[in-house]
Amino acid sequence: MSDIKTILAKKQLDGAAGKWIERLDGVGEDDVRAALNAPPGRYRFERLLALISPAAQNFLEQMAQQARQVTIQRFGRTIQLYAPLYVSNYCINSCRYCGYNVQTSCDRTRLSVDEAIAEADIIAAQGFRHILLVSGEDPEFITVDYLTRLAGRLKSKFSGISVEIYPMSRSDYEKLFAAGIDGVTFYQETYNRRLYSEYHIAGPKSDYDYRLDTHDRTAPAGMRRLGLGALLGLGDWRVETLALAEHAAWLMKKYWRCQVSFSFPRLRPANHVLPHFEQLVTDTELVRMMLALRLCFADAGIVLSTRESASLRDNLARLCVTRMSAGSKTSPGGYGRRVQSQEQFEIDDKRSPAEVAAMIRSSGCECVWKDWDAAFAPDQR
Ligand code: SF4
Repeated sequence: MSDIKTILAKKQLDGAAGKWIERLDGVGEDDVRAALNAPPGRYRFERLLALISPAAQNFLEQMAQQARQVTIQRFGRTIQLYAPLYVSNYCINSCRYCGYNVQTSCDRTRLSVDEAIAEADIIAAQGFRHILLVSGEDPEFITVDYLTRLAGRLKSKFSGISVEIYPMSRSDYEKLFAAGIDGVTFYQETYNRRLYSEYHIAGPKSDYDYRLDTHDRTAPAGMRRLGLGALLGLGDWRVETLALAEHAAWLMKKYWRCQVSFSFPRLRPANHVLPHFEQLVTDTELVRMMLALRLCFADAGIVLSTRESASLRDNLARLCVTRMSAGSKTSPGGYGRRVQSQEQFEIDDKRSPAEVAAMIRSSGCECVWKDWDAAFAPDQR
């Protein structure tokens, strides 16, 4: 089986967007109708291309209805809730869009395991049973030993523990999995190699290929939940969507036991970072991207964070979202407010978890706080 680098290179999805913009502009309304008339839920490259083309703009309502049906058929009327727990905002990278980058001055904090547990207790008291540990690339402090000690104490409180941290080796992921961490989320940021180099000018993250291969190390290590995404606003969103879909399709084929999810982080205002981005994604474009991916990947999780506004989240909760964060704090220590530290970005939906849960119920869906139990995986814990 080809690796993902070869697949992207062959399709020229890791380079200049020009060829694909031309192809997208060449899609006609008949192509979109054909894409919508095919049974929804199965991935075909040409189908996705039609659904994200300019010609699909007039079919948004039809796409929304189909996406809703596919989501209900596959996931029922349920939305799982999770909360992020930031454990460190130290970082050795220089991502030009991020307020935590090593060159910016900000209040930096590292939570000891005891401090992280205090934060986690607040999250658990709000009802959450799924937690996402988030950190800048801080390998000096956020070590495998730190994470395994933390996971060891979290697993009695949470049924699902995922991480969104820096890329590690397969053997390190094996240790995390053995300690109770069962999911890893990774954003390639942009699949365009030239843009990737421009935005990641120094630090380990400047290695595009090592990052791209991350899930080829997490999945063999046992991880069950694989999160994927591109940071929307860096490259052309349509070409990023095509590359993201190829990445997901390849992972689903190779690691069919894992659940693959898409996340949709859009650039948000951040501390001391580039104020101008030329490819910012509008609400309508974001919705089209989400609906198109849902119509091509019936089994994929669709995750929407509190970066987005309450009204957009409410609407998308009725259509295709399967997982949402709520009441998020994006700074270490932010839940207990015991320490002063810089948040990574400003969230938009500032409602409490209880308010988000009430919205989900009022939209006719059930809130799922827990959908996994350690008893299902006696080999792990
Ligand atoms: S995006 Fe992540 S790796 Fe890059 S500077 Fe921010 S925290 Fe560090």
